[in-house]
Amino acid sequence: MADLVIAGGGFAGLWSAMAASRLAAEARLPLDVLLVSTGPDLVIRPRLYEADPARMRVPLDDVLGPLGVRREQAAVTGVNLADQCVELVFADGRSEWEPFRRLVVATGSDVRRPVFEGAELVHDVDTLGGATALDAHLRELSSGEYTAVVAGSGFTGVEVACELVSRLKAVAGGEPVKVCLVELADRLSPRLGSGPREVISAALGSLGVEVLLGTGIRRVTPGAVMLSDGAVIEAHTVVWTAGVAASPLAAKVGGSLDALGRLHVDRHLRVPEAPSVFAAGDVAAAETGDGHVTLPSCQHAIPLGKRAGHNAAAELLGLPVTPFTAEPYATCLDLGPAGALLSTGWERTVVLTGPDAKTLKRTINEQRIYPPTGDREAILAAADPDHTWVPKGS
Ligand SMILES: Cc1cc2nc3c(=O)[nH]c(=O)nc-3n(C[C@H](O)[C@H](O)[C@H](O)COP(=O)(O)OP(=O)(O)OC[C@H]3O[C@@H](n4cnc5c(N)ncnc54)[C@H](O)[C@@H]3O)c2cc1C
Repeated sequence: MADLVIAGGGFAGLWSAMAASRLAAEARLPLDVLLVSTGPDLVIRPRLYEADPARMRVPLDDVLGPLGVRREQAAVTGVNLADQCVELVFADGRSEWEPFRRLVVATGSDVRRPVFEGAELVHDVDTLGGATALDAHLRELSSGEYTAVVAGSGFTGVEVACELVSRLKAVAGGEPVKVCLVELADRLSPRLGSGPREVISAALGSLGVEVLLGTGIRRVTPGAVMLSDGAVIEAHTVVWTAGVAASPLAAKVGGSLDALGRLHVDRHLRVPEAPSVFAAGDVAAAETGDGHVTLPSCQHAIPLGKRAGHNAAAELLGLPVTPFTAEPYATCLDLGPAGALLSTGWERTVVLTGPDAKTLKRTINEQRIYPPTGDREAILAAADPDHTWVPKGS
């Protein structure tokens, strides 16, 4: 039996394993940690809108190996609280129940795929597989096929639309390219609030992205998109970014869920209805400490993971658990060739734009969200839940 089972090898799960190992090392006590994830890599999801997404991953064993954390490649499909075990289903269909003393649920989120006619033709950038398929599709486009429609003008939709302008140009060999951003609401980026709207709108305008508000997609066929008002756009690429839902494993824990299907957790990130279970990342709805609730974001997933792993280990080692508090909220949005945007606070006041914001976004994407690898001491030092880790040189 593992002392601690962590379900999910994304940001929350990996940093959870790191923080649990750190506490055990500090206390000089043994702790058997098992991380179960469907793939062998940490997928750098925030970069999946970029070109060449196949490189956006870090082998989990480069971090877990030096810590002595065991890893299984399987899907966690069930939780039995009475017997304290989780069901693992392997790629070959085999299944087994793995006992635990504490469990961290960190299985992330998924984009809610559309259900209209032709939905199977629609791409997304939610997973490495989805982003890689889009990348391959773009590289195979032929003359006259360089129009794309992006559905949803939230964070991901804006980043995809801006980036697609240059990604299409890179394959179009000088032919004109066109990107349309379709938003169901009558305002651009409704969930981001009014703070960054003007900057986003100006960036989209400068890149020639056509914004269609109050419009949905009714149907997709190869080469055409029919909108809810009956208009037809001749487009060979459609990318869906609208809506996200917590991993279905959240609903198997028996705790109460929010509108995104996330588990409500207490200040120690425990699921109140299941005292041996903690939750972190996109699968958890935690209070930030400044009157808000965490968002499905990398920015929250890493510190949530650290605190959940720390607390789960603390209980097993007979040490005190400590409350989660989020750092002041900030967002950095990539606007493709139009630069980037940094906002601070929950009202998202824009504090930086243009090349300086772009440099910051690159540092975040290429350095800050990558865990240290290979070096046990560096990995343990980064996992301290009371300190934000900043990679050297970033
Ligand atoms: C295109 C894009 C851009 C983004 N940009 C930003 C950004 O700029 N800033 C920001 O803060 N956030 C951003 N995000 C959000 C961010 O990527 C997520 O919030 C973050 O990845 C959540 O981390 P997580 O560990 O909770 O989940 P994930 O990273 O989704 O990891 C979950 C892991 O669990 C595994 N898993 C799933 N189900 C199971 C199961 N049943 N059993 C075992 N393993 C399972 C998955 O394979 C995966 O490895 C972006 C996301 C996308 C898609």
